[in-house]
Amino acid sequence: MIRVRDDLRALEGYHSPQVDVDVRLNTNESPFGPPPSFVTALAEAVGSIAWNRYPDRRAERLRAGIAALHGVDAANVFVANGSNEVIQTLLLAYGGPGRTVLTFEPSYQMHAQIARVTGAKVVGWPRSDDFTLDPVSARQAIAEHRPAVAFLTSPNNPTGHADGPDVLDALVADGDTLVVVDEAYAEFGRWSAIERITEDAPIVVLRTFSKTWSMAAARLGYLVGPVEVVRALETAVLPYHLDAVTQVAGELALRHIDEMNERVRLVVEERAEVASGLAVLGCRVVDSSANFILFEPPVAGEDPAGADRVWSGLVQHGVLVRNCSGWPGLAGWLRVTIGTNEENRRFLNALSEVLDER
Ligand SMILES: *Cc1c(COP(=O)(O)O)cnc(C)c1O
Repeated sequence: MIRVRDDLRALEGYHSPQVDVDVRLNTNESPFGPPPSFVTALAEAVGSIAWNRYPDRRAERLRAGIAALHGVDAANVFVANGSNEVIQTLLLAYGGPGRTVLTFEPSYQMHAQIARVTGAKVVGWPRSDDFTLDPVSARQAIAEHRPAVAFLTSPNNPTGHADGPDVLDALVADGDTLVVVDEAYAEFGRWSAIERITEDAPIVVLRTFSKTWSMAAARLGYLVGPVEVVRALETAVLPYHLDAVTQVAGELALRHIDEMNERVRLVVEERAEVASGLAVLGCRVVDSSANFILFEPPVAGEDPAGADRVWSGLVQHGVLVRNCSGWPGLAGWLRVTIGTNEENRRFLNALSEVLDER
């Protein structure tokens, strides 16, 4: 009889329910499609791909474009199928059996999930009650557990909170831990750890085209870090893992930086509107540096199932948000992705009605 690994059987997959409703604000995608000129250029480029040939194994043009965007060398850039594949490749190279991976909870669940699937031991160190991370506490986590890899999600998902450079300094202090700063939402925030990348510091930064770049369907993410780390990832990853379409999609997207910045600006503007709308409805709101907001509807304090009922009520009104209430440390909290102006208004109206119906 076939038998899956015992440790794997204990794990559950990470899935946001895909409910078919009008207003989908549950997975932090961009509410805007990419610019039409991008779609036209991509269709044309797909027509001239040499389909009988393997793609460029090193994705030279795409890496050069990303390197130029950040003012680093192409040798400092690793590209993959979403930042999720970057995470997996990092953990194949630096995690694995006998090693410890540190996360700061609550945070993005894929770090712990992929670390476990690739055989490492995972330690989830708690953040403060207000979801910030005290540098002294971060340093203590490193000293106590001596992890091979530590993940810092900043701006954090699902809280939207951004950690400062002082936290990063605390994490790299002993020099034996590879510190992975997951910046899937950095464009919506103010500070980036990319400025700290050098050949000598054990810091890498992850970025994705899934959120800011309106390209979740393409699966493209990347890492910026020391050449030594990029080389290790190239050893661990499958050959020809990034197909020709994804490569060219990334190259073409990089020619639309102005439109991308405009989309970010619109989302940040809407975020302020949604935050004040939530406050007016009596919700507790975490200050967000990302394209979503974590909020606690006023019911939840008295009733642990209150947030679940608000979530279901919203679905009945055709609005899907993320129910974080069952996650450790997040009882009572929901997360809403910032949508278009119309979607946000529909969300706030629906929430108002659901809260009135109680
Ligand atoms: C959405 C998200 C990603 C994106 O993963 P991709 O594989 O690039 O789509 C990565 N990290 C965090 C924290 C996220 O929220």
